[in-house]
Amino acid sequence: MTNENKPEQNGFAALGITGALLKAANAAGFTDPKPIQTQAIPPQLEGRDIFGIAQTGSGKTAAFALPILSKIIGLGTKRRPKTARALILAPTRELAVQIEDTIKLLAKGAHISTALVLGGVSRYSQVKKIAPGVDILIATPGRLTDLVREGDLILADTKWLVLDEGDRMLDMGFINDVKRIAKATAPDRQTALFSATLPNEIAELAKGLLKDPVRIEVAPQSTTAAEIVQSVVLARTKQKRQVLSKMLADEAMRSVIVFSRTKHGADRVTKDLARDGFNAAVIHGNKSQNARQKALNDFRDGSVRILVATDIAARGIDVPGISHVVNFDLPDEAESYVHRIGRTGRNGKDGIAITLCDPSENGKLRQVERIIRMRLPVIADHLGSPDPQRDPREKTERHFEPANDREHHGGRRDGRRPGSGNNGKKRFGAKPAGESVFSGKPGGERPGAAKPNGERKPDGAKRFRGNNKRRFGGKRPANRAA
Ligand code: AMP
Repeated sequence: MTNENKPEQNGFAALGITGALLKAANAAGFTDPKPIQTQAIPPQLEGRDIFGIAQTGSGKTAAFALPILSKIIGLGTKRRPKTARALILAPTRELAVQIEDTIKLLAKGAHISTALVLGGVSRYSQVKKIAPGVDILIATPGRLTDLVREGDLILADTKWLVLDEGDRMLDMGFINDVKRIAKATAPDRQTALFSATLPNEIAELAKGLLKDPVRIEVAPQSTTAAEIVQSVVLARTKQKRQVLSKMLADEAMRSVIVFSRTKHGADRVTKDLARDGFNAAVIHGNKSQNARQKALNDFRDGSVRILVATDIAARGIDVPGISHVVNFDLPDEAESYVHRIGRTGRNGKDGIAITLCDPSENGKLRQVERIIRMRLPVIADHLGSPDPQRDPREKTERHFEPANDREHHGGRRDGRRPGSGNNGKKRFGAKPAGESVFSGKPGGERPGAAKPNGERKPDGAKRFRGNNKRRFGGKRPANRAA
């Protein structure tokens, strides 16, 4: 057939996706490929390895899943017991569940078997599910290492390997597990590594695991023009409960994640909200997998509008339509702030982020402002400062030069630091002081506003580091996070 006689193809068909997969993708509303899909699908169909710098929200799940599904559908061979044809490693249980959901959606009608191997839930049912062999196994590294060590899973037949959110696996101390797992898979496997950021260790990992990879980089702002409007409410720790409840009384706060630095704090906030008449779900590392999943499902389907979460539990969660992020306290590591507020402003929708700041947290707030390169406007002050027009933090501000064009709460109308060029860095919108940030359409049409700059080293990174000594033959530490 000449080119003129070929039926015109668009969308995923033009990338090489056909038959049941194409139908399922279209039925799921995936008609126009996202940039990462356009770049990653054709080379993977050709058998190439992929090194993708992309975040959750970019569409990377379908970018790696569709080629793998397409290849597995094309196989004529039978599965062998206790094996997985493809293995997808994710740092957290929630992300693994999300990946399986997407794969099931895309594989509808294609007779593909999937299984999850996660910490925190019954091993028995997992072992039973993989006993006859599965097409696609989605796993967190800790539990998977256990199953391999105990002979319940054989990886020698695994010809497709995906490492998702590589930088988080690194932060959580999984890197050596990941290397051992990769080594146990088929030597002629095809591999895809995705990471939101590119620390040296990830570049090294890529060198070790990928063969002549196609490198793909997707900047978040190229896929969305969403803006996250950020602001600060000054309140003493003991006032925060009342401030939060008052805020939440505004129904414009449709779907809210409240972040707490600690698990204990998350429980306390949830209890206080209940006492104040708000039904909130809570998600943190001490909750069972079932409780975490239920909290997430209730939040996702809208049966609760408030989710209280710790940083680690919230990693990788992609719940569309979160209207507000409230930081009940500031995170220990400034980078976690970027990660937290990135839960809103997804899929091209605007979002609002409000941070409650006690005077003892001013140092942390300054760190945050330093990394986002922006002064956050104070929209309410419960500290009883003599001049409510004046931001009490100004007295201690050193790192921002005095500027001529400051408005009364500091910073330019767009919240950007005076005189700062773009420098290739992504920026965030900030609502000018005086406007209500609790209601109405967030953001407005401010040009140049952008989504957060990657979910870099998340909170807790240091705590999870250094737990790398396990071998398939070794004993697993009991306090593994995922
Ligand atoms: P991911 O980065 O894989 O978590 O995807 C982010 C969100 O985008 C998910 O809610 C997907 O369902 C959605 N998505 C991915 N690809 C497409 C597409 N081509 N068209 C529409 N939605 C998509």
